[in-house]
Amino acid sequence: MTGTSPDSPDSVSPASISPVSVNPVSVDPHRLLLTSESGGGGVLLGQRCRQCQVCIFGPAIFCQACSSSDLELVQLSRQGALYSFTVVRVPPAGWPGKVPYTLGEVELPEGPHVLAEIIDCEPDRLELGMVMELALEQVAVAESNQGSGKGLGKVLAVYKWRPAEKPG
Ligand SMILES: [Zn+2]
Repeated sequence: MTGTSPDSPDSVSPASISPVSVNPVSVDPHRLLLTSESGGGGVLLGQRCRQCQVCIFGPAIFCQACSSSDLELVQLSRQGALYSFTVVRVPPAGWPGKVPYTLGEVELPEGPHVLAEIIDCEPDRLELGMVMELALEQVAVAESNQGSGKGLGKVLAVYKWRPAEKPG
């Protein structure tokens, strides 16, 4: 036990932005619906085909299984089974988080596989098939503005996976 927790200077945390009241916005409104203004709650969105019941994650124009355009918006389960994972040491450009990080693919009961970072778990403690649950994190990003004005920045709510505390 150490008296002070070591701060990682590279991490981006909501506390590091100015304490104005900035409500977080979904990183992708087609995939993540925020259910609370604080950004602490949310559900993943998908489309289900009314013809063949195949469900996909995120927006779609037609069903990839049967080509029907008769789709309905559905809210997906907050838990799923870990299908695959990998440790990413070379992140995509602009990656705001820490490196390396764990990228997990979770299979939802409705069928879709959803890729997201796995948090709160070291990769060597992950097991395929274990129950993962949706976790929302808030990431402060600088507003990209063309002018000279300096934006306050905004807060994005992003979806991640973490091992479920109580499966089911
Ligand atoms: Zn279909």
